[in-house]
Amino acid sequence: MAELFYDDDADLSIIAGRKVAVIGYGSQGHAHALNLRDSGVDVRVGLREGSASRAKAEEQGLAVATVADAVREADVVVILAPDQVQRHVYRDEIAPNLREGATLVFGHGFNIRFGYIKPEQGVDVVMVAPKGPGHLVRREYEAGRGVPVIVAVEQDASGKAWDLAKSYARAIGGLRAGGIKTTFTEETETDLFGEQAVLCGGASQLVQYGFEVLTEAGYQPEVAYFEVLHELKLIVDLMVEGGIAKQRWSVSDTAEYGDYVSGPRVISPEVKENMKAVLGDIQNGAFAKRFIDDQDAGGTEFAELRAKGEQHPIEATGRELRKMFSWIKPSDSDYVEGSAA
Ligand code: NDP
Ligand code: MG
Ligand code: MG
Repeated sequence: MAELFYDDDADLSIIAGRKVAVIGYGSQGHAHALNLRDSGVDVRVGLREGSASRAKAEEQGLAVATVADAVREADVVVILAPDQVQRHVYRDEIAPNLREGATLVFGHGFNIRFGYIKPEQGVDVVMVAPKGPGHLVRREYEAGRGVPVIVAVEQDASGKAWDLAKSYARAIGGLRAGGIKTTFTEETETDLFGEQAVLCGGASQLVQYGFEVLTEAGYQPEVAYFEVLHELKLIVDLMVEGGIAKQRWSVSDTAEYGDYVSGPRVISPEVKENMKAVLGDIQNGAFAKRFIDDQDAGGTEFAELRAKGEQHPIEATGRELRKMFSWIKPSDSDYVEGSAA
């Protein structure tokens, strides 16, 4: 059984007594910085020169400094720049300015697990990884709730790394929902697998194929969109509330029977073998190497894949239909429809 932590298992005063620097003010960075601040923590944001994020952080009343200056002032440095740039920022600006006895906090284990960042022996290295997008980490905190976190300690030079990690997890609201003890290896490999095989890669491809099959058979794209994309959220909400069993309980007997007989035809055992191959490439570092090599070469493959995805016909159909949804407001993010193309 996994070891779980809740608010009562963590001492908020530990992190409240430290100076924290959050490096990066994107999806996770803004959520951690604002939640920490609202939990009474002394926080500053570290950004590169000319950063487009500076105005957003300042608008919220946060102190902003260069990465080097923020690190020099801090007891706790939280690395929330994108995974692919972390090793450069670490080598050039964090490591040379890190205080003796400082703690490094990660939001994902990628750079430690694959050896792109190798911290000095004397620093504590911990991870507090929210299991949800950054904008929800902030929204849930403000609503008095939290997004679950997983917590790990890679290096415990002080002997007190776990106490600090739990205190930090509480301050960002994660322990309201619950924290699970893990390792950098387990977090990194399961996180990459989940997003590739099921949550992002698997779900996106499933929805696109469903849309293609219906529209190629002559059905209206608008009907196909509602059927295979929009309704997915309603189904997933039921799964989150009560498991796959509750979803099957709520749908019609016709839908439930169709689930049993057609689910395994669509997602055949071969798909499970493909998933195992994806997991293998995560475990042996092949995925990490491909991602980082492309990034180091300017991210051309990434840019092409992004543009191709944005051109899928389901995006244009959805864009039109969503204009009619008064309840979908992009107010809590900077996402711009069609901006990826
Ligand atoms: P983002 O892509 O949203 O981070 C962008 C931020 O990083 C911006 O403020 C950007 O500033 C800054 N940044 C970019 N390059 C640099 C640099 N060279 N030096 C300093 N700052 C820089 O990252 P995410 O929030 O998506 O990811 C952060 C970490 O959290 C990752 O480890 C990720 O795996 C993890 N994570 C992310 C989740 C998510 O919801 N997205 C979920 C769970 C974990 P500028 O304006 O200057 O470009
Ligand atoms: Mg991830
Ligand atoms: Mg139906």
